[in-house]
Amino acid sequence: MSELAEKKVLLEIDDLKVHFAIKEGRQWFWQPPKTLKAVDGVSLRLYAGETLGVVGESGCGKSTLARAIIGLAKATAGRVAWLGRDLLGQNEDAWRQARNDMQMIFQDPLASLNPRMTIGEIIAEPLRTYHPKMPRQEVKERVRNMMIKVGLLPNLINRYPHEFSGGQCQRIGIARALILEPKLIICDEPVSALDVSIQAQVVNLLQKLQREMGLALIFIAHDLAVVKHISDRVLVMYLGHAVELGTYDEVYHNPLHPYTRALMSAVPIPDPDREKNKVIQLLEGELPSPINPPSGCVFRTRCPMAGEECAKTAPLLEGNFRHAVSCLKVDPL
Ligand code: SF4
Repeated sequence: MSELAEKKVLLEIDDLKVHFAIKEGRQWFWQPPKTLKAVDGVSLRLYAGETLGVVGESGCGKSTLARAIIGLAKATAGRVAWLGRDLLGQNEDAWRQARNDMQMIFQDPLASLNPRMTIGEIIAEPLRTYHPKMPRQEVKERVRNMMIKVGLLPNLINRYPHEFSGGQCQRIGIARALILEPKLIICDEPVSALDVSIQAQVVNLLQKLQREMGLALIFIAHDLAVVKHISDRVLVMYLGHAVELGTYDEVYHNPLHPYTRALMSAVPIPDPDREKNKVIQLLEGELPSPINPPSGCVFRTRCPMAGEECAKTAPLLEGNFRHAVSCLKVDPL
């Protein structure tokens, strides 16, 4: 994994915040809007060719983080730098250029495809936007080659999305994301709407394409089992905060944060005897509202280790490249 640390840094995120003003629910119109802190101070580095798994419950901010990286959600503060260039505060042209290198795959494969366009037109759309002078024949050739690469028959090029299964629609989404030969693909829960058998096929396809094209992946999922086989490093998020970040080995074999330990205890073990005897650590209570998060450590209302100091002091993510954790009672080193 030290090999990874020596690779080129593609993406730098420093103290990123995405806050939304919420006007609904006010008793009187002159009352100031409340603030929803969807992402609240996340920092990380992404290296060329690596896969970063991002996990956490619904509402933890993982999808908002992904959308802020690509400029689909407006960051309130912090820094998002692509290949050393800070993108926040830049004009649409700078974002457009960066999106040439960064593409996204969405959760609902069918809903993310325009039903009025043929799959050939859908896959070709980014090429037509970024390379409007490319000859039609070359566009068609590239689309056909990409269809083969993602396991779709090129003679289906004139069909419409509704004629395909969920797994095939996700392959179309992947082909569209890859047609510009980006350096990073952000996969926002790309398999959660698919059957388990199809999930494995899509994950295997992404891994194959990553090897062939040297892609970096940010792979978002709501549990650790899904990202287990694909991640070089894992980021665990809770209520807009990064609570643990480390290499696959460290996070899976030595989870430090009580939240990660609870998530890990729910990951199925392939050994039937160990699976039968394992103790699942259930989390008490609901995820608090990001409009009114707990003081101090945001996990304290559900943490079995919480003490008095946890209500007063917000822990920082501390550690090193291999393993960092945000907890007042755990020393990562
Ligand atoms: S800082 Fe306190 S409440 Fe937060 S995870 Fe650590 S022990 Fe639990």
